[in-house]
Amino acid sequence: MHEGLKPRKSRGTLGSPFTTVLRFMQLLLKSVDFAARAHRDQRRKGAAQEPYINHPIEVSRLIVECEPHTGEDILCAAVLHDVIEDCGATRDEIAACFNDIIADIVLEVSDDKALPRDERKAKQIETAPNLTSGAKLVRLADKVANVGAMLTDTPVGWDERQILTYVDWAEAVIAPCREVSDNLSDRFDAIARDVRIFHQNELKEAGK
Ligand code: ZN
Repeated sequence: MHEGLKPRKSRGTLGSPFTTVLRFMQLLLKSVDFAARAHRDQRRKGAAQEPYINHPIEVSRLIVECEPHTGEDILCAAVLHDVIEDCGATRDEIAACFNDIIADIVLEVSDDKALPRDERKAKQIETAPNLTSGAKLVRLADKVANVGAMLTDTPVGWDERQILTYVDWAEAVIAPCREVSDNLSDRFDAIARDVRIFHQNELKEAGK
């Protein structure tokens, strides 16, 4: 496992493994509660209009499945990864409710919505190499989830070319993030391949 992803060493005398697990669960559930409230009026872009919270939960699940020893701060940041960008939460608010490490990771993976869409997308590619290892892991899992949705819950109004362009862009964004997890990188490659095959076939069949 990549060095930066390991849980922090226990700081004090609180000590027993049971206490550590309890503390972990409390923090994680607190992040789920925070994110669920923040995203309460939002839906995913697919026809199923899934509640938005399904997405950050999926992102954190992917991380814990692929990198089971990931520290609690990174998992909580995964749950909270869209609350600044999509819900107007602030870094300081997250730092006050959780801690600076979580707040900084969430900030790192947040787009500046004041910028035009194309600029934001270019910036994700530009800044990816400089992300911390925790932010790279969240970014990688986020793209696995979003590319996967191109198969299971395609955004309403997107055509095949748009979807294939999205997959290419996501692949460019995650390129420098691969170093933090071989397992998540493999997941990305598998799902990107399936999405490309499916939508390229759709294009062929439609004779486009
Ligand atoms: Zn996301």
